[in-house]
Amino acid sequence: MQLLDGKLLSENIKLELAAEVDTLRQQGGKIPHLAAVLVGEDPASQVYVSSKIKSCEQVGFKSSLVRRPAETSEAELLQIVHDLNNDPDVDGFIVQLPLPKHINEERITLAIDHRKDVDGFHPINFGRMAQGMPAFLPATPFGIMEMLRRYNIETSGKHCVVLGRSNIVGTPMSLLLSRKGYPGDCTVTLTHSRTKDLPAEVRRADIIVAAIGIPQFVKGDWVREGAVVIDVGINRIPDASKKSGSRLVGDVDFDAVAPRCSYITPVPGGVGLMTVTALLMNTLKACRKEIYP
Ligand code: NAD
Repeated sequence: MQLLDGKLLSENIKLELAAEVDTLRQQGGKIPHLAAVLVGEDPASQVYVSSKIKSCEQVGFKSSLVRRPAETSEAELLQIVHDLNNDPDVDGFIVQLPLPKHINEERITLAIDHRKDVDGFHPINFGRMAQGMPAFLPATPFGIMEMLRRYNIETSGKHCVVLGRSNIVGTPMSLLLSRKGYPGDCTVTLTHSRTKDLPAEVRRADIIVAAIGIPQFVKGDWVREGAVVIDVGINRIPDASKKSGSRLVGDVDFDAVAPRCSYITPVPGGVGLMTVTALLMNTLKACRKEIYP
């Protein structure tokens, strides 16, 4: 079994990005600028946003953070989105989800200029991705695809079972892995909460992508010998042996599954770090106008 090391991989990619920024600086080119909008005080969102800002600093990107209280109205947030759409210095931006209940997330996502949508959530990017056209890919699936590519994992003709059908992970993963090319050309089964006999579906998989949000849900005897396991889940469970009283685990029962796999992502240290790095890769693409010349 080999670990798919998201920490090492993202450090390597960040070095590449930092080198690109140096070259841009020497040539007098524009330095990539990512903006993040954070509404409210959700602790997990604060952690995610600060890690995105910190990652920008590490590679030499410019970053800015727009913080607003939870009471911010939808109209005010739409105005912020409008201003970022029209700010020529901002190459890409994200509005951190979830938003407070009184704000319609769909309306906000639709208001973002798709040419600056580095989260890849706008339907124009989603549709273009589905058709195999150049698009900003959603960060988590983009990070996973990059991980498969950089570890040279064979995907052609493989049977991939995706668990979870969210718009940000499961559904785009199923589309990307079934697309023509590498990594791709898989036969994909997309499973969800209504799937009958999920263990039997998972046992048929050469590649498993678990994105459901239930701690240690995928059991050892669900996994075929030699399977590749991508664990997207980030779940906090109680652990009295830790100072904090808790620890992070994935959607896969790592200890039982790992000995059966050819490759597996750890949690933490796997997909999560690649997600932030993929956002940086999208920001560089936005700055270079690679997707929308
Ligand atoms: P979600 O919470 O929006 O949806 C969960 C999906 O799981 C649904 O499609 C549902 O049908 C399916 N599901 C729920 N119970 C099931 C069951 N018993 N059997 C089969 N399917 C079931 O999903 P999400 O936003 O993609 O998040 C999934 C997990 O991934 C969460 O733990 C989240 O924290 C994590 N996540 C991690 C990253 C990262 O960067 N590593 C990014 C996004 C999400």
